[in-house]
Formats: sequence, structure tokens, C-alpha cells
Amino acid sequence: MFKNGDIVKVLIPNVINRGYDYRLTEDADVGNFVRCTVMNRQYIGVIVGLGDSNLDVSKIKPIIEVCHLGKMSDSDIKWIYKMSEWTLMAPGAVLRLIINVMDAFDSPKVEQLYEYNFEASCKMTDARQNVCDAFHSNDNDAMSVNDIQNIAKVSNSVVKTMIKNGILIPTTQREKTIDDFHYDYVDMKNVVLNQEQQSAADTIASAIKTGGFSVHLLDGITGSGKTQVYFDAALRAYMDGKSVLLMMPEIALTAQFISRFEKRFGAPPVVWHSNLTAARRRNIWRGVANGSIKMVVGTRSALFLPWQNLGLVVVDEEHDTSYKQEDMGNYHARDMAVLRAKVSGFPIVLASATPSLETLHNVALGKYKRLRLNSRFGGATLPKIETIDLKQEKAESYKLNESDEKEVSGNLSPRLCAEIESTLSQHKQVMLFINRRGFAPIVQCKKCGWVAQCPDCSVGMNYHKRIGKLVCHICGKTQNLPNICPQCGNEVSMRGIGLEKIQEEVSVKFPNAKTALVSSDTIMSREALERLVRKMEDGEIDIIIGTQILAKGHHFPNLTLVGVVDADMGLFGTDFRAGEHTFQQLFQVAGRAGRGEFPGRVLLQTYQPEHPVIQAIVKGNRDEFMLSDMESRKMAKMPPYGNLIAVIIEADKESVLKKYCEQLANATPTFENGKIMGPIAAQIYQIRNWYRMRFLVSGDIKTHLQPVVQYWLSKVKQPVNVRVKIDVNPQNFM
Ligand code: ADP
Ligand code: ZN
Ligand code: ZN
Repeated sequence: MFKNGDIVKVLIPNVINRGYDYRLTEDADVGNFVRCTVMNRQYIGVIVGLGDSNLDVSKIKPIIEVCHLGKMSDSDIKWIYKMSEWTLMAPGAVLRLIINVMDAFDSPKVEQLYEYNFEASCKMTDARQNVCDAFHSNDNDAMSVNDIQNIAKVSNSVVKTMIKNGILIPTTQREKTIDDFHYDYVDMKNVVLNQEQQSAADTIASAIKTGGFSVHLLDGITGSGKTQVYFDAALRAYMDGKSVLLMMPEIALTAQFISRFEKRFGAPPVVWHSNLTAARRRNIWRGVANGSIKMVVGTRSALFLPWQNLGLVVVDEEHDTSYKQEDMGNYHARDMAVLRAKVSGFPIVLASATPSLETLHNVALGKYKRLRLNSRFGGATLPKIETIDLKQEKAESYKLNESDEKEVSGNLSPRLCAEIESTLSQHKQVMLFINRRGFAPIVQCKKCGWVAQCPDCSVGMNYHKRIGKLVCHICGKTQNLPNICPQCGNEVSMRGIGLEKIQEEVSVKFPNAKTALVSSDTIMSREALERLVRKMEDGEIDIIIGTQILAKGHHFPNLTLVGVVDADMGLFGTDFRAGEHTFQQLFQVAGRAGRGEFPGRVLLQTYQPEHPVIQAIVKGNRDEFMLSDMESRKMAKMPPYGNLIAVIIEADKESVLKKYCEQLANATPTFENGKIMGPIAAQIYQIRNWYRMRFLVSGDIKTHLQPVVQYWLSKVKQPVNVRVKIDVNPQNFM
């Protein structure tokens, strides 16, 4: 405990901050949130220890106040510094992930709120539907204009018009308060675990009882019922008075999941993600800080809530790449959760049907304990998986109109078409998977070779037929499709396949089938996805055509055929995780078939039926495949058998970038068992008009690369308008 007048170190949530000294004006403790000023701006910081400046006491600024809401424990603070050491984010940058709700400590803003008038009839545009969805996602509670705009991602004028038309009406309804999020959970005892589930649940239960750090991998095939096992664990920790975090990818946070939670626990979960109203963010944050909210279901950012007495974290779909944050600081939420559990000494559960190679490696080392669920719950069988060799079974071309002379070359082989036909005739549903948005990835002149390029990025633009425009998949810029080649005036043509192209072929070959397109272009929110899931359940869709959004946790009982249009896509990436990621994706997609009472089939169209990834999927040899992938990574000394840090330098002026990179190259230190490679132009050299180069620092597994990188970068002064991005164990090699 510090006394009034003591000098303490306060960490400020700021990208470069390592802590400043302040004078206390009342008694306070390590971990207390305090209000103070830096360069005349107010911040909420955290006391991390005793001050260490040798300035005269009178020269040290006083803090403004100690905030009596929540407190970070010693181990939470230790975790901040450990995370900073690992990711090379400044401790202040890590703290900024925690103190990211600006007004959590201020009195609430009073704003005019609006209700959605479901009685009003109006023409539904996409924007209005997004507003409607935004209300649904907020339990139809009233929202401010700002919230509506932020959550629905619509302009102010859309909202204004809806107010004018009486679709949105002003209300005196109040927003949910902290108390509204205070639920008491109990075990409703309406679920009986099967033997496998029970034995997994018992093992985790004993880890919770014993306490201390442990990692359990809940390794169960798709549909085996992992959720009920970790619900069991969550209940036990909660009953012990601990706080519990259930973390999942945004897209898995479905109504199906929420209703399962509510059934088992007798009350709905407190849900945390990036698209909440300002009031919800504030109140949930405060509720977690004051300890009244003890259980949260959330996306990766929920790990950074001001947890009190956190005693269990579950990371569902632990292999999912969305746990990797790559924008504002690079960190892997799963790994940071494990770190947090280790520092604080509590158990953590990772769940997946396709665990990441890193996690399996930790199982092999004996650091993580594996719990297996080998059969689908309720006796549903796994789908039968076969390949279609496109070298032998060519897709038939088709005509867009009967009267057309020109034929379009197809992508659906006769066998896949026959299977679709027979599935439809049995009144079952079909899913076609192709992981590329839009109609065609390349727009090119056949005469002179001109290719449509994004003006701001060094990548080609994709043609999107639905909106009739060219779209850059890196920065999102859109442009009109030129009628003729801007270089030579000849005809332009489309190359490659995207989702919309497959829909075109389906609409010609199966004119009576009801189809739906599912990609991030058509499904902008979880509510839109929910609507689609309901349509599937209600049988309003015969053929669902989609990207990886479809690979995640959905349960469609009537879906019996999955066709993967291009299983080879993604097999030949330059990145050492290409095999692993393709395997996980195809495996998850295949797992959508036959989850109900009817058996499922999966057909993979490929030119490479003998490829190890494809063979592993067909034979269901997940473990064997992962072992061989591990072997090749071991040979290449790639993570987790070696350490890797990517340093990406970006600048808006090429000359500045080149000069700084040259200086860095001249300053590279030599160190044992590792090296610094580069600079080379990044795989995508230009993004949004910023130029990019990269260095790669590699070392053997025992070499700590972080201090090397830190020392190296500190030797060269960073020019203005340059960004340095440090990515430890990168997932992405753009
Ligand atoms: P996973 O996440 O392992 O793919 P789920 O947790 O989605 O599998 O479970 C698959 C299906 O089985 C779901 O419909 C779920 O409600 C059901 N289920 C799982 N365990 C039980 C249980 N013990 N009692 C009743 N239904 C269960
Ligand atoms: Zn041309
Ligand atoms: Zn672009």
C-alpha cells in the first residue's frame, strides 16, 4: 500500500509508454486505476510500482484521482510486461488493449435514443436491413444515432431518413445498466454427458479443483459435443467463485450458441465483441471491473477486459486464424491467454477439431494434456469423403442463354452435378465451397496483356458481378469495369473463378434450385448470417454457395452434400502454414455434412488427388498428416521448431523507406544460432499507397530473438512517416 505523497510509477495506455512517475494525493495500491495528465491530456493509467525518477518531489506531477473501480492484480501487471516482452509492443500499448473503453470512468453521456419501429412498412434497402440487423444484435434495445451508424456501418443520411420516415422513433427508454448484465448462473442439469464427454469433463474438473496452471486440449471431431464439455468446466469454475472467459471467433458466436448457453446456465451470456453500443461496452467493462460480471462469452478482445479473479479461460476453435491480431500491434490471443493463465496460475482449455500444429507440438512435448472425443454426439456418422480428379472428369461448358452461340467453360464436373441432382431430388441441401469472393480474380486484355490493378496497392483487382465493379481485396477500393482495354482498346476478359461465377453456373445447370451466396460481401453481420442459417433450417435454400464463412460451427441437419469446387486453392502458397491451413479449412467444411440423422457426403474437386493434404482429408488421417507436416517444419527449422520474427517497414515515400532499410541492414547485429535476412520487398509491396519492405529474423528454438530485435532497432533512429511492425511467429506473409 502506498501513502498519500508517495511517488509511484504509472503506466499510461499509449503505444510507446513505459511508465511515468506521479505523486499520490491519497493512499493507493499497485494495480489501482488512476486519472492523471500527460502533456495536458487526461489519461487513465495503472499504478505499476514505486517511482524511480530522481527528480525533486516538488517537480513531480500529482495524480488527479484514484479511481475506485476494479483493480489489476500483481499477476495481471506481470502479464502486461510478459506480453510486452514477447510481442515487443510497449507495455503502454498492451495496457491500451485493456483500457480501451474511453469513458469507462466518466459519467455516462446522455444521448437521444431511438427505437426501431417494426410496425412501419418501408422499402428494404441493404443499408436499412443493416440498421434492422444492428437493432437485433442489440436485443432490439434503443440506440443512439452514433451507435446505429457504427454498428450498421451506414451513413448519417440513412439514419436521418429512417427517422424522418418514422422507422426509427425517439424514445425515453434507457440503456441497459451494469445491473442488467448481472446474471446468476446455475447448472440446469438438462444435459447428460456421454461417457467420452464425461471423462473429459472430469479431468478438467479435477484440474480446476487442484488449481494452478494447466492446459487441456479438448480434441474432438466436428459434432462430438465439445461445447457441453467446456460448459461443464465453466460452471465448476464459476461455482468456485472464479471469473470465466469463453473465447471464440466472432463468427462462431451465433444465436445457436447463445441459446445453448442459456439453456444450460439458466440465463443468457454477457456477450463481448467489437460491435457493441458505447453504453454496453462501458457497462460490461465496468461490470467486469467491479466483479459483478463473472462470466463473458467474447471474441479475442475479451481477454483484455479488466478481469477480477479470472480462474478459467476456454479458447474455442483454438486453431482459428482470427485469434491473430495484425493491425494495432501483433499478438495471438490464444497464446496470450495461455500466457495469462501461466502467470496467474489457472487452468485453460483449448478446443478444436483441427488443432493447430503449435498446440499439437505442445501436446507431444507433454506441456498440454489432450482429451479426445472420438465420436459424433448422438451417433451421427462422419461424412464419406471422395475426390473428383479434374484431369479426368472435365466440367461441361454451358450457355448463359439458349440462344447464345458462345459457351462458357464450367467448373462443376459431371459427377458433382449428378450428386447435386440426386441430393436435390431427395429434398436435401447442398453446400458448394469456394474460398474466393467475387466473380473473377483477374481482369485482363487478351491482346496486350494489360491487367486491372489497384491504383493504391500492388495487386490485381477482382471483378464483382453483383455490384458490377472491380474491387481490391487488400484495401477495398472499387472502380468501374472498363468496357475496353485502356491500353489497346481491345476486349477485356475474366480469368479464374470466384463465388459469383459458380452461382452463375449453378443457376444455368440447376435452374429450379434456390441458391444463396455467402461471403463477407453478402453477409455483413452476424445477424445476416443468422437469417441465412434460419433460411437453411426452414428449407428456403437448396444450394448454399460460400466462402470460409461456411466452414465455421454451423449445424444444418438437412445438409447432406458438400462440394469443394477447387480443393487445390491454397495448397501452393509460399507460406509454411499453407498445408496446415488448407487442411483445417477443408476438414472443417467437410464437417458440415451429415450432422443430422442423414449421412453426409463430401466431394473434393482437385487436379492433385494424390497431394498429401487431399489424401489426409479423404482418409481422415489428421494425425498422420499433422505429423508429416511437423516433420517438414522441423527440417526447415520453422516455428514451432525455430523462432521467427518478421519486421515489416512501411513508408509513404519510397526513398525514405529504402534509406531506412539500408541503415537497418548495415546495423544488423550478428548473434549465435540465428540471422537477420533482408530487406526484401514485401510480398505485397504497396498497400494504400504505402511502400513495404520486410526483414526476417530467424533463430533456433533456444535463441531469444526479441532482445536481438529490440537492440537492433534501437541502433537506428526511426524517421517520421515510417511504421515498423514487429510480428512474432507471423501467420501472414503479405
Ligand atoms: P462440436 O462443437 O464438438 O462440433 P457441438 O458442441 O456443436 O459439437 O455438439 C454437436 C451437437 O450435439 C449439438 O447439436 C449439441 O447440442 C449436441 N450435444 C452435444 N452434447 C450433448 C449432450 N450431452 N446432450 C444433448 N445434446 C448434446
Ligand atoms: Zn490491351
Ligand atoms: Zn488496393
